[in-house]
This record gives sequence, C-alpha cells and structure tokens, in this order.
Amino acid sequence: MDSSLTITGVQGRKVTVPTGLFIHNEFVPSVTGQTLAVENPSTGEQLGTISAAGLEDINKAVKSAKAGFEAWKAVSGAARARVLLKLADLVERDAQDLASLEAVDSGTLFTDSMGLNIPQAVGCLRYYAGWADKIDGKTLELDGGFAYTHREPLGVCGAIVPWNAPLMITIWKLAPALVTGNALIIKTSENSPLYGLRLAELVKEAGVPAGLVNIVAGDGANAGQSLSEHMEVRKIAFTGSAFAGRKILQASSRTNLKKVSLELGGKGPSIVFDDCDFENALLWTRIGITANNGQICAAGSRIYVQESIYDRFIEAYKKAAADAPTVAGDPLDSATTKGPIVSSAQHKKVLDYIRQGKECGARLLFGGEQIGEKGYFVQNTAFADVADDATIMREEIFGPVASIAKFSSEAEVISKANDSAHGLSAAIFTNDVNRAHRVTKALESGQVTVNAWAMLSPNVPFGGVKESGYGRDMGEDALEGWTQVKAVKFHILPARL
Ligand code: NAD
Repeated sequence: MDSSLTITGVQGRKVTVPTGLFIHNEFVPSVTGQTLAVENPSTGEQLGTISAAGLEDINKAVKSAKAGFEAWKAVSGAARARVLLKLADLVERDAQDLASLEAVDSGTLFTDSMGLNIPQAVGCLRYYAGWADKIDGKTLELDGGFAYTHREPLGVCGAIVPWNAPLMITIWKLAPALVTGNALIIKTSENSPLYGLRLAELVKEAGVPAGLVNIVAGDGANAGQSLSEHMEVRKIAFTGSAFAGRKILQASSRTNLKKVSLELGGKGPSIVFDDCDFENALLWTRIGITANNGQICAAGSRIYVQESIYDRFIEAYKKAAADAPTVAGDPLDSATTKGPIVSSAQHKKVLDYIRQGKECGARLLFGGEQIGEKGYFVQNTAFADVADDATIMREEIFGPVASIAKFSSEAEVISKANDSAHGLSAAIFTNDVNRAHRVTKALESGQVTVNAWAMLSPNVPFGGVKESGYGRDMGEDALEGWTQVKAVKFHILPARL
C-alpha cells in the first residue's frame, strides 16, 4: 500500500492525502496490516487503498488520547477557542479539496459540499469556539454554607460517523467535544473515509496537541466495535443506523457503561395544509427528498397533503419534476444535479424499495428506475396514494423516493405523522399561525420546520426522539452530552472567638 493517495478533484485539481491511521499527530500503518479499499460510486472504480484500524490500533489510539486529554487540561478556554478558530480557517482554506474528496468518495455534489456542508462545519467550529470560556455551573443554596457545580470533561471519547455529509457530522462532534475538554477518537465510515485523512492533516496544522484528536478509518465490526467496547473510552457519539446504534449500546452495557448518544434514522413527515403557500410547499417538499439523493436522515420522505389540494399538488409535483430534469453524472461537475448513491449495497437497497413501491398498489408518479449501467445512480422517484402500512411509507429508504398520501383533518395527519418508530425531523406548511403552533407541539419529533425543510444552524440543536435516538448535536444542548456535573459543597465554619 502506498503512503499517499491522489485523486483528481474539481477542475482536474490533484488532491493527495496520506493513507495511514492518524494517531498521536502522525500517520501510521495499521498494526495488524488491515486495509480498506476506497471506491468512487460514480464509476464503481477503486480509488486506492488506505489503512484500517483493528483492536490493537484502537488500543494505541486510546493510549495516545489519554496523553492528549492530559495535555489539553492545561490549555485555557481562550486558547482552546484559538485552536478551534484556526481549524475553522484551515477547513475554509482547503474547502475545495475537502469537497473534492467527499465528491469522489461519497458521491456528494461538489456544489452541495461547498454551499452547505463545509460552511456548516466551519460555522460549527466557530460557534463552539465562542463557548470555550462560557462553560460554567451554578451556585446553590445549602444549609450551613453553599454549593456550586461545574461541568467537567468526560475524558477519552469516541465519535463513530456515517458517510453522508461526513465532514459536517464529524465536526458536529469534534467541536463540542474539544471545547469542553475531551479527547476524541474519530472512526470514519468505510464508505467515505478520505475527507478524514485531510481533516487529520488540518488538525495537526491547527496546533491540536498530539493525541487529542485521533482519526482512524475502519469498518464497524472491527474498528467501531473495538472503540465501543474499550474500557477507557467514556462516551461514544454515534450517527448512523439503528442497527449499529443497538450494537454500540450493547457494547457499552457489557463493558464500562460508557455514555452513548445516538443520532439515528428518520422517516420525516412533510405535512402540506390547504392554507399553505402552495409554491413554497411544492419547492421544499421536493428539496426535502431529493437533496443529497434522499441520503439524509432528516429527509422529508412521507408527504401528507390535505385532500382539498391533493390532486392539484400531485399534478404540480409531477410537472415540477418534469420541468427540471436532473442531470446525473460526475458530482465534481457544477452542471450535475444528481450524484450517485453511495455504494452498490445501498443502490440495491433503494432499488428494492422502489420495486416494493411498485408492487404495493401505490401510484408511480415518476422515476422508478436506475440510471445507466455505470456507477450507482437512481432516478428521483415519487409514489402517490401510498397506504399507511406500505413498507415505503414506514421504513427509511435513504434514497430519492417520496411517498405521498392524502389526509382530511389536522387530527388525522398528526396521528399519521406520529404513527412511526422514528421521530427525527418533520416539516409543516401552513399560513395559519395557530395551526402551526398546535401541530408543532403535537408532533413527536426532535425538530419541526415550519414552511421550509431542515434549516440547519450550528446554534440550533439537532437530534431525535423515539427510535431516532437521543442526545443532541449542535447548540448549547450538545454541551451537556460532552460534560459531567461535579457538585462542590462548602461548609462555612462559624467564627472562633
Ligand atoms: P451505519 O450504521 O451502517 O454506519 C455508521 C457508522 O457506524 C459507520 O462508521 C460504521 O462503520 C459504524 N458501525 C457499523 N456497525 C458498527 C458496530 N457494530 N459497532 C460500531 N460501529 C459500527 O450507517 P450508514 O449507512 O453509514 O448511515 C446511514 C444511516 O445513518 C441512516 O439510517 C441515517 O438515517 C443515519 N443518519 C442519521 C443522522 C442523524 O443525525 N440522525 C445523520 C446521518 C445519517
């Protein structure tokens, strides 16, 4: 295996990354010699091979992180902030390279990474830098004296991240972890590890002490499980599937009961009331399921439309798709509007859900086929008249497949929307302010967006309820998950005469 890997990025630009595991600010090969083949989902071709972590590598990373944690303790809040701000500047400086790596590795459109994911990551670093000297406790009344609390770091933590918007989701964990004083071992997804190698270089350049941030590639069963089982890891911050989330919880329960935060999947309802701004609802319900090919946990994949505007909406939805045909192709090309699905396995899964949609009695409005033979492309697809119990209405597809159904009353649609194991994200479209408040309150969802979809911001918490998980990324709320409270009780002695 070569010690570096070069890809051709935007406008032919060569981007080179080291192939090792980033442990203690150095790139090292895996102790066990494990490797990971990296594939371009637009073509199905191999980009190269990188090191993958096994148990011994994770042990090494934890040992290093313990040293990094000790070193970071001596660093003031203000100095921590400077490191995060420096890292933000470096991510911004190298945005084109990072977006190129995401494009060839995960199929994310270069324009999406540049326009949304990377600015969000940079904003998140800067937002948490602002918290560095503001993480404080309370002063409390106590008989015979007083008490105070302060928030302390947990120690060595792990972040296990998915392949969609990988840099942004990694930074959602890295920034609050570091600002609260923790050391972090990041395990990138086997489907999109390349951005992590450039991020590692930037971490070192930003002046992060050795060991404070270690970044390793590897698969879930080896690297992910070893990290989750490690007795000296105090928390795993996870984003991914419920299947892997359960494995991580089980690992915690049979080892040291480490904290676990879970950002899992969704089956987001988008609810269109007949009093909405019709064109606005049309726009956002389309974006909500086609952005990043529907490979977004917060995707608005269940679209409920009030019966009085249902037929008009269906016609307009079809027309809008026909009027703006997608350009499928190389995600590096700015003319491309549709990249590939991330992997062959995911591609097969999405096509299988489409087959089930065709067989369940729903009405196919458009799409429904794979595009071309090379790479993993799928047409934007929409089904209307989808029954409540249809698989495509109940399960997360993680592809560009909308399931549309009608409803008559507010109470009925609240009940349909909440009849789901998931509760990550919802959107409602209405111009009635009272209805907006009533419905947002009634929905079982970690976030509800009114008259738009998703709207991420570093200062606003993001996470789920029910089987979409618990714990929050972003915002002040995330800080709680990276700290523990110590209560100090002070007994004031009476004066001795
Ligand atoms: P995945 O669960 O297959 O993989 C996610 C990560 O978990 C990867 O790094 C993988 O290697 C690791 N992993 C797998 N098995 C493991 C195990 N036994 N122990 C430890 N780690 C293990 O998910 P994915 O396919 O990468 O991502 C898609 C899923 O992620 C979807 O369900 C999606 O909804 C969810 N997601 C959620 C959010 C959110 O914020 N809620 C954001 C993005 C994606």
